[in-house]
Amino acid sequence: MADRQNLCDLTQPELGLLVAELGEPPYRARQIFAAIHRRRSRSFDEMSDLPKDMRLKLNQTATVSTLKLESRYLSTDGTRRYLFKTYDNLPVETVFIPEERRDTICFSSQSGCPLQCTFCLTAQLGLLRNLAAGEIVEQIIVALNDAYGSGVKTPRGTNLVGMGAGEPFLNFEALMKAIRIMAEPKGLRIVPRRVTVSTAGVVPRIRELATIPDRPNLAISLAAPTDELRDELMPINKKWPLRELLSACKDFERSLKRGERFTFEYVMLDGVNDSDEHARQLANLLNRYELRPKVNLIPHNPAEPLPYRPSPSERVEAFREILESKGVHTFVRKPRGRDIFAACGQLAARSGADFPGPLSNLRRTRVESLTV
Ligand code: SF4
Repeated sequence: MADRQNLCDLTQPELGLLVAELGEPPYRARQIFAAIHRRRSRSFDEMSDLPKDMRLKLNQTATVSTLKLESRYLSTDGTRRYLFKTYDNLPVETVFIPEERRDTICFSSQSGCPLQCTFCLTAQLGLLRNLAAGEIVEQIIVALNDAYGSGVKTPRGTNLVGMGAGEPFLNFEALMKAIRIMAEPKGLRIVPRRVTVSTAGVVPRIRELATIPDRPNLAISLAAPTDELRDELMPINKKWPLRELLSACKDFERSLKRGERFTFEYVMLDGVNDSDEHARQLANLLNRYELRPKVNLIPHNPAEPLPYRPSPSERVEAFREILESKGVHTFVRKPRGRDIFAACGQLAARSGADFPGPLSNLRRTRVESLTV
């Protein structure tokens, strides 16, 4: 594929230029864009509104499907994890989380991740490479097709979260381009307000995001209330310590418009960052910067060989109560898809053979049986 242009990577105006180069009229660009993003077609052969010779021409120079679905894993709670391979054989993972009101798709922004958060399995892959905008868009298209059927309108307005593998803000340009493409009214129509991007704390990008009018919601992965502990759990803290991170967060908070959301994520590691004292330190830290975000507590998801255990639920509750008593709005995130290695911090391109439990629990779906 390396020599063929991935059309999922193009905005509508860019597609217009490509169509003009092929000597075709501009309305063909609109047709192709609608086929890829509105009807979520995965091949030119499905685009029966294009003349046959044009489809042939496109097949020679372009593609709309570069990610190869290797496996799909189905959790007992309905969560689905997709393991793809890129054209250059690198792993990409995406998770579909069915929910009562709105379903959520968690996408990856990089293959692997260069950051070394000690509680996250993805870190062990290292950075394999940044994903292109089209590879981010394709993850959503495949997950939507699998969940609702190809060509079927997305029901209830699906939410997206950029919390899969990778640090999205280290692939900022492709991320923002993908978000623009997915927001197109003639395409997927997933507006930035429905997208939340989580960063480990890439301060210059938080500041940049604060200046962008149409932007996704922001989540910051905090994991520790002091520099000493955060240096250990999230080494990015040595580059951008808490005072720099929280002052960027304060500026971001000032830029919030109605309906925009800003959250802190706090992974809870048994006996490491979950004491009453940590809770008080966290509340004091946020209050010192007069931050008023929501805090999501995420019990750690077990991920061998990482040395951590999830905090017991009574500990999580006690932590939550302390934060609430100090005026910090706090929620506890329910883990989803733990049994298929789809939960937060567990994405490391694991396949059936890597699973500790019996394979019958895994409910792996053969790729041949999927039409996505
Ligand atoms: S938590 Fe996120 S930023 Fe940290 S290593 Fe894992 S994927 Fe990368």
